[in-house]
Amino acid sequence: MRVRVRFAPSPTGPLHIGGARSALFNYLFARHHQGVLVVRVEDTDLERSRSEYEDEILASLDWLGLTWDEGLRVGGPHAPYRQTERLDTYRQCAEVLLERGLAYPCFCSEEELEAERAGLIAKGETPRYLGTCRNLSEEERAARRQAGIVPTIRFRAPQDRLYVVEDLVRGRVAFEGNTIGDFIIMKSDGIPTYNFAVVVDDHLMEITHVIRAEEHLTNTPRQMMIYEAMGWEMPKFAHVSLILGEDRQKMSKRHGATSVIQYRQRGYLPEALVNFLALLGWAPEGQEELMTLDEMVRAFSLERVARNPAVFDLDKLNWMNQQYLKRKSTSELGMLLRPFLEEAGYGAQVAALGEARYRILVEGVRDYLVCLSDVGEYARPFLDPPRYDSEAEAVLAQEGVAEMLARCRVCLGALEGGLDEAQSLLKELPGMLGVPARQVYRPLRVALTGKTTGPELPFLVAVWGGQGTEERLQRAFAFLSARKA
Ligand code: GLU
Repeated sequence: MRVRVRFAPSPTGPLHIGGARSALFNYLFARHHQGVLVVRVEDTDLERSRSEYEDEILASLDWLGLTWDEGLRVGGPHAPYRQTERLDTYRQCAEVLLERGLAYPCFCSEEELEAERAGLIAKGETPRYLGTCRNLSEEERAARRQAGIVPTIRFRAPQDRLYVVEDLVRGRVAFEGNTIGDFIIMKSDGIPTYNFAVVVDDHLMEITHVIRAEEHLTNTPRQMMIYEAMGWEMPKFAHVSLILGEDRQKMSKRHGATSVIQYRQRGYLPEALVNFLALLGWAPEGQEELMTLDEMVRAFSLERVARNPAVFDLDKLNWMNQQYLKRKSTSELGMLLRPFLEEAGYGAQVAALGEARYRILVEGVRDYLVCLSDVGEYARPFLDPPRYDSEAEAVLAQEGVAEMLARCRVCLGALEGGLDEAQSLLKELPGMLGVPARQVYRPLRVALTGKTTGPELPFLVAVWGGQGTEERLQRAFAFLSARKA
């Protein structure tokens, strides 16, 4: 049988890294087995669902490079793939259960249910529905309807049964039927609940494997009950462990960025994030940590997905991002960096540089970057005019420095070409001036950038060119003479 899996996000927020990992595992599993990945949107929480979030989630999947075969945007034989557009289908399935007596209308009010819940909790029992409307006669139902009460539909949960999930990740997990009361499958407004809609869709969409977050494991026995009642074959289940922060608490906003978009905005590369997420819980055979998506597809198996929670290690993500940045060609990296330079306010300066000098700038900063958004900081000495603080002043005011810099200016002002020429000119400079290297480069750097440390001088000088370098030295002289005056 052909493998069919699905990713079924609720559009109630941006794509969380946990959701992205579920999507990725489904993707890897589908591709590994030459199966089909379906993307369906579970938007039955009308208050919290937003179409902007749906767009954002799909955009995040696109950015990560996770493609799907059926579902939102691409369509397919089981359309529509948005749950609010499938309400008739759920209603018809609920009718089947009502006819079979496996579900019943429930007229209890929110207040009554809340009181029942509170009572059970106070007694230390599992809150569940105790069955007030379970055995109402037809007359009683009719009377309540007549009184204008619109019922919900409740599923008659079998009691005294053990539900055993043969989970592909967690092994056998058993649930007592008794702890699960009759549960609502259709609300009074005709909207299905998650546990019902998910089963109807997974069945009709011919899903063979349900791979999802561990938090849904406790929902699984309810879903198994519905499969049984409808007489449908069950898919296989695989519940993937939580992602924890480094303090071993569930990953949340407290731990920093939690959504894919935030990582994108910080300038992580999609290849790095995908690689990192794959290894959150999955341990491929072999030692190699850096893997392309294709390599992951080939190696992926649910057997090697861990039962214990994965810990989100930001240092590891940073390391991976650096590895992937290193592999980028200068022109590719240059393109990726442009929006981040714009964001840092350097759009006009970068445009004025021209292609050749921009490439040198990219070469000059690339080894320092952990993420793309670091570029603002490292490009600053290239693009901002120097400012001299007291530390700079102390260096520049030293005996003989002004004269030495004046001679540097003559040499460097003559620079015409690119990086190679800047490199050899700077190398020859101490010899030409007859001054030890140490006494040349430090004051020169301070005069040109205002700082004692920073990117390598040849890169800076090559980006500025002869004229730009002279102008900066001019500033240093102006600063020194203003100071004397
Ligand atoms: N809509 C659910 C969620 O976002 C999906 C649950 C499932 O995969 O069954 O958590």
